[in-house]
Amino acid sequence: MDFELTADQRRLRKEVISFAQKELGREAAADDRDSRFPQEDWRRCAKFGVLGWPVPEEYGGRSLDPLTTVVALEALGYGCQDNGLVFAINNHLWGCAIHVLLHGTGEQKKRYLPPLCAGTLIGAQALSEPEAGSDLLGLATTARRDGDGYRLHGTKCFISNGPVADVFVTLARTGDEGRAQNQLSAFIVTSDMPGVVKKREPLKMGLRTTPMGVVEFDGTPVSADNLLGRESAGYSVFTSSIEWERSFMFASQVGAMERLLETSVRHANSRHQFGRPIGAFQAVSHQIADMKIRLELARMLLYRVGWLKREGRLALLEATMAKIFISESTVQTAMGAVEVHGARGYLTDDGIERELRDALGGPIYAGTNAVQRGILAELLGVHGALSGGGAR
Ligand SMILES: Cc1cc2nc3c(=O)[nH]c(=O)nc-3n(C[C@H](O)[C@H](O)[C@H](O)COP(=O)(O)OP(=O)(O)OC[C@H]3O[C@@H](n4cnc5c(N)ncnc54)[C@H](O)[C@@H]3O)c2cc1C
Repeated sequence: MDFELTADQRRLRKEVISFAQKELGREAAADDRDSRFPQEDWRRCAKFGVLGWPVPEEYGGRSLDPLTTVVALEALGYGCQDNGLVFAINNHLWGCAIHVLLHGTGEQKKRYLPPLCAGTLIGAQALSEPEAGSDLLGLATTARRDGDGYRLHGTKCFISNGPVADVFVTLARTGDEGRAQNQLSAFIVTSDMPGVVKKREPLKMGLRTTPMGVVEFDGTPVSADNLLGRESAGYSVFTSSIEWERSFMFASQVGAMERLLETSVRHANSRHQFGRPIGAFQAVSHQIADMKIRLELARMLLYRVGWLKREGRLALLEATMAKIFISESTVQTAMGAVEVHGARGYLTDDGIERELRDALGGPIYAGTNAVQRGILAELLGVHGALSGGGAR
């Protein structure tokens, strides 16, 4: 594994940072206050190519290899002050587009990927339900055979991008017999299908510029052409793409951690108390040293997953560790930044408290960290470490 970025990756990183700093998140504080999705910024990202970074050029993407993709996403997270916009992009890519790319038929890829890359269609992943969060196999949404196709009934909740999304990758129950893992099927559902009802969730703590919603399927007719993978293979469609979601989704948080570190260093040098910069107090300087250690370890875990995927290898163990470590490190770093900034970190003006609110979702989404630790222990050979098979 290389420990240095290539010249092309360094150039891309610079371009992405410059684009994100100049063009994105100009209204981040106001958009956060009003829970507003930044449509204009979304379009700018589409134009810059962000929404198609990992997708092959033949489907309208940029064909970046997995390692280069994480470098670019990290740069986006560093340059863009609006973590909610970045999270919306990551859901679009790793909750929706990647599933179509990895499991779609030729026809599905041709139909959905070009507009997803162009940003004219917004993607989302609709898995969670009111009574099935971690317990994915317990989901209640049904897809019953109806002529040549299916009819979907059920309610999905906490869906990032839900209120603005056009394309949902979802799981529904197509059978009640045999192994629980074989009872689910994956579907591509579009918001213009009859019986799809989108509602906004109430206000959330952070990532407020990513709209979150409930999606109801009220007898939605779905053609067999919209089955993603085989019937009854929905759980394996989901699990075989999960390492991308569990790690790449968090690449931008590594960038956000670096931004927080730099902001904290500046403040430690410029704020004086007791006649000296606060960085001269060990409590403050050690806080900053810990931020750097977390940043570098998070980056190494992330790049390792990017490298394994570039080599076409499995990375489930590494992706699970990356998810846990990056999400928890981001929370700790944001807490540290609030502490270093004192009352200024607590006020909304400087945006530091927003970083903490945004970070607190990370240990929950893409599977809670408690469940991830159980999965990790199972992967390490600890039998029964995860109570409830099929948890995510
Ligand atoms: C910001 C954000 C964005 C989200 N975006 C999406 C999205 O786009 N699409 C989507 O489908 N969902 C989304 N979710 C929902 C998310 O996937 C779920 O919140 C998550 O899977 C956990 O489900 P739950 O909230 O129902 O918690 P529960 O499953 O009810 O868990 C509650 C608590 O019990 C613990 N627990 C449960 N089971 C076990 C177990 N077997 N072992 C140990 N501990 C356990 C959990 O760790 C947690 O602490 C999002 C959530 C957040 C916060």
